[in-house]
Amino acid sequence: MFIKFCGAARNVTGSRHLLEIGGKKILLDCGMFQGGAKEKVRAQNEGFLFDPKAVDFLILSHAHIDHCGMIPRLVKLGFAGKIFCTQATRDLAEMMMLDGAKIQFQDAAFVKKEMGKEIEPLYSEADVHAAVKLFTTYEYFQKFKLIEGVWVTFYDAGHVLGSAITAIDFKEEGSQKRLVYTGDLGRKYMPILNDPYQVDHANYLIIESTYAGHLHDSFDSVEDELSRIIMDVTRRRGKIIIPGFSLERTQELVYVLHKLYDEKKIEPIPIFIDSPLSVEVSKVFDRYENYYDNETFRDFLSRKESPFHSPEIKYVKRIEESKALNTFKGSCIIISASGMCEAGRIKHHLKYHMGDARNLILVVGFMAQGTRGRQLVDGASKIRLFGQLYPLRAQVVVMNAFSAHADKLELLEYVKNVSDLENVFVVHGEENQCLVFRDNIINILKMKCRVDVADLGEEFVETPEGMQSLKGTRREEYLNKIKDLKLKV
Ligand SMILES: [Zn+2]
Repeated sequence: MFIKFCGAARNVTGSRHLLEIGGKKILLDCGMFQGGAKEKVRAQNEGFLFDPKAVDFLILSHAHIDHCGMIPRLVKLGFAGKIFCTQATRDLAEMMMLDGAKIQFQDAAFVKKEMGKEIEPLYSEADVHAAVKLFTTYEYFQKFKLIEGVWVTFYDAGHVLGSAITAIDFKEEGSQKRLVYTGDLGRKYMPILNDPYQVDHANYLIIESTYAGHLHDSFDSVEDELSRIIMDVTRRRGKIIIPGFSLERTQELVYVLHKLYDEKKIEPIPIFIDSPLSVEVSKVFDRYENYYDNETFRDFLSRKESPFHSPEIKYVKRIEESKALNTFKGSCIIISASGMCEAGRIKHHLKYHMGDARNLILVVGFMAQGTRGRQLVDGASKIRLFGQLYPLRAQVVVMNAFSAHADKLELLEYVKNVSDLENVFVVHGEENQCLVFRDNIINILKMKCRVDVADLGEEFVETPEGMQSLKGTRREEYLNKIKDLKLKV
């Protein structure tokens, strides 16, 4: 077996991990890099650390753009293999990729207008349509054959609708092996979704580490905290602006708000979901009730109600309706994308509302380094929008109980319950989180396996001593060594 980490290595975006098993190249996720200097990000998204034409299969964990956003680019550059994921992921990924195509087009137009430079969008809608034709879907627990001797099973990751933990069972050198890729790992007791499935054994584990050094607040307090915030802001006649990730976070917020209104815990104020993408995504949620957890059945479906529809919940599609929110009289909640405030209508809502101290910006998601969202969290006094600095006077509140990622304890608990581990690869976390996670696995869990924090582009190959890195000069040594061992790189 061979693994090359081609994204989300000591970083949280651009998930792309290339495996070679049984002579076939299998790509786990094909995400978009986000945040940081525009040119660097474009370069990272433009190319791949492998030849797209040489990849045989793509396995997609879930539909967040940092996991699926560069699939159309991969197809444009020659990938023609099958793409495997769950049904809900396919439907959601199609929307996310179409939205991605729009962003690519807008970015190219912006560069042309601002710098007079002609750049080609990284992919178009046509590339998205070509990519969608390559999808084949499987349900959770439905074991399917990739090639002779290599089997794949998806388990519920509890991160977003349709999200999957991938287990690949294969034979190597005569012995049965299992590689598990967590994708993004969710949390227990979250609205809508089932708890993440605990895989009980694996030889190799590729695991995310977004919050490996952080403890989340319990979700139990969310309803009370949200009620208090809404009452405070309503009293001072302010508005609540929520940068919402279109996929999942927005629906979870709507779920909790709707439940609070139903239970008459607070006086309802209008909730505007101002993002065409969120509107479409919510429709997919309506279609996949079979993915919901028992609590969603108890709270809504058993009463023939949908969590996502009520008189107070208003979906905003047209740009005129969105603009009208700038002068909306009275308190309201505006949930708008993009989640990290880098694009989309949220930028306009920040521009119009963040200068007023009566308003409140509620941060409910992870804000990557280098993004405007991170500046909000870090207490900036001014934020640059549309080339101009605007004062930030609105109250900023961070509620990380909404996080869709497992925290420090949940991640450690997850690893602890996996038996037979030989190698753990820590990915999808900023460097300090990855390192803390590695140290905790070794020092707290006292596990005997090897734990690696992969570098971008780092390759690992199976040797008689287990998976070994091919970093630096060791690459040549290993290439010679494995030539003798007739292992494939
Ligand atoms: Zn995700």
